[in-house]
Amino acid sequence: MLKLKSRKLYVFRQRAIKKEINVAPDDSIKIKRPRIVSSGSTGVSRPSREEAESAVRTLIRWLGDTPEREGLLDTPKRVVKAYEEMFRGYSEDPSEVLQRTFEESDNYSDMVLLRNIRLESVCEHHMLPIIGKAHIAYVPDGRVVGISKLARTMETFAKRLQIQEKLTSEIANAINVSLKPKGVAVVIDAVHECMTTRGVHKSGVGMVTKILLGCFKDDTQLRNDFMSSIGKNHY
Ligand SMILES: [Zn+2]
Repeated sequence: MLKLKSRKLYVFRQRAIKKEINVAPDDSIKIKRPRIVSSGSTGVSRPSREEAESAVRTLIRWLGDTPEREGLLDTPKRVVKAYEEMFRGYSEDPSEVLQRTFEESDNYSDMVLLRNIRLESVCEHHMLPIIGKAHIAYVPDGRVVGISKLARTMETFAKRLQIQEKLTSEIANAINVSLKPKGVAVVIDAVHECMTTRGVHKSGVGMVTKILLGCFKDDTQLRNDFMSSIGKNHY
């Protein structure tokens, strides 16, 4: 969806926001436990399903519509169910996802790259979708992880209220801490619907965030290999 379709779009993309976020060195990184939204250790008390549905009815009334009309009768139920799916990351623990790592007996030491992972998240400022692609790479230091686990790690963080910068660093840090690789690289290229469907109404503007840790930061050749492998030499 983010292919360069025209010169105009290309220029837009060239101007896309580029952010490189500095993260703490390995030993000071702690994976934040997911916020368990329940009346447990966090002390956050979770409203009941009925209360959540009632909140949706309040919003419908605030819009100027009637929650009691036929077409809207089951909407609160559907919205709460949809939210359950969209925000399932709150009940998942990324360190558990990455718990099973494997000793790499043949000493594979090149880059492992999972590219073009469909990303669906929700911006925490407007609760509107963030849609795009993620590219996740690491260079193993003796241990590897099932490749689907990289995508699942991304999902765990994406299925929460997010900002793209935080999402990018959370994914990189989780892999870095669990796998202790020689390096991790995460690039996210996404469109924020709060920018395209409201506010400034700028379609086609992609936001790019990038985190490079360890050897991806230090080794220019490796970094270039990674960038050209994801087809993003201009980032
Ligand atoms: Zn937003």
